[in-house]
Amino acid sequence: MSETKKRYFLPEEEIPRQWYNIQADMPNKPMPPLNPATRQPLKPEDLYPIFAEELCRQELNQTDRFIDIPDEVREMYKYYRSTPLVRATGLEKALGTPAHIYFKNESVSPMGSHKLNSAIPQAYYCKKEGVTNVTTETGAGQWGASLAYAARLFGLEAAVYQVKISYEQKPYRRSIMQTFGAQVTPSPSMSTRAGKDILTKDPNHQGSLGTAISEAIELATTTPGCKYTLGSVLSHVSLHQTVIGLEAEKQMAMAGEYPDMVIACFGGGSNFGGIAFPFMRHKFDGTAPKETRFIAAEPASCPKLTRGIFKYDFGDEAGYTPLLPMFTLGHNFRPANIHAGGLRYHGAGVIVSQLLKDGLMEAVDIQQLESFRAGTLFARSEGIIPAPESCHAIAATVREALRCKETGEEKVILFNLSGHGLIDMTAYDNYLAGNLMNYSLSDDEIASNLASSPIPGE
Ligand SMILES: *Cc1c(COP(=O)(O)O)cnc(C)c1O
Repeated sequence: MSETKKRYFLPEEEIPRQWYNIQADMPNKPMPPLNPATRQPLKPEDLYPIFAEELCRQELNQTDRFIDIPDEVREMYKYYRSTPLVRATGLEKALGTPAHIYFKNESVSPMGSHKLNSAIPQAYYCKKEGVTNVTTETGAGQWGASLAYAARLFGLEAAVYQVKISYEQKPYRRSIMQTFGAQVTPSPSMSTRAGKDILTKDPNHQGSLGTAISEAIELATTTPGCKYTLGSVLSHVSLHQTVIGLEAEKQMAMAGEYPDMVIACFGGGSNFGGIAFPFMRHKFDGTAPKETRFIAAEPASCPKLTRGIFKYDFGDEAGYTPLLPMFTLGHNFRPANIHAGGLRYHGAGVIVSQLLKDGLMEAVDIQQLESFRAGTLFARSEGIIPAPESCHAIAATVREALRCKETGEEKVILFNLSGHGLIDMTAYDNYLAGNLMNYSLSDDEIASNLASSPIPGE
């Protein structure tokens, strides 16, 4: 028997007391979000009608390297943190790779994914500022479930717009949100102007994160005491998620290793940023013992990082959000209906977009079948059924581990297991029955969608 220890936990006092704000360290800061009407850079105050004020300040903070985690938030983190860092010896063996594979297991949170790490502070700041209602959009339902729970923790009412196709296909996530007392509406709906406009043009619209965001923002800006919250893409969300990487940094040290590669799946960038940014900071401050590669794994059917372009674009379909400088497929891009619902978003967060532009990270695209093949292998070798989103990170890890097998290199790979797939068994059923397919997008489709976007490219 090998003596290899498999799991690493941190004692309670080692749970982070601050989040890491990578914006302070970036060689090129993200360009500012712009007011779509005036094209002027936004100030935090411009965002106050939409988000809790502290979150607006965090969003645009490019000077403080570390931001204190409020005690109340840290107390709630303690319910499930630290999350384990696990050496994936089963997967290593199944692959016959000399690589050392570690994963950070965010699936142990009460909601089964990393999303709660940001839902808790977002609900906390809303409560502290006297807000009574929060609203948001959700695709697959992980964010909506996390927000519904966090709202409950702080005594707030939650209204969630869920992408219609997910509302119909993933009834259990809706039940989870409703169990926590949230009001759930399929989007596009007739309850907002944005929804009505979309349905008038296309009565069979299946919904997208873009339509749901438009509806939630409209509700927040037209309802007193109501704020909007977002579970990905924005910089303050990635900031909160850095608890993942800050813990992993200490846990990797306990294991006596440092990653050659840090890998995460990519929807809007929050779990990727969460695990990657704390390690990137070693590169910025000159303390990195290795040239670590940072790899984002996105679905081939929604390839904004690998095939999109960098330009100012809206974050939502109706064009209610500020213009964000990001890699995008065009704000009205409609991704194929893959099971990894959390990765079906047209753009990437502004921090990650700038890092990719500057060559500080890489991106790979993964087809649906490859993702489920890797996820099933992981389930069989590690005993955890990964979320369809997380399967993309696993597939990218498998690719790298097999490369190590060819070269005989003992590389250290760290990936983020962003969530479990126990509520996504329909997806696995379809995979096992041979009913899933790959989706390919032609260059022409991507180009014509970008061309139809009204915002000129850079
Ligand atoms: C939402 C979600 C993602 C994608 O969002 P990011 O902001 O890119 O992290 C990935 N995995 C799971 C399990 C999710 O719920």
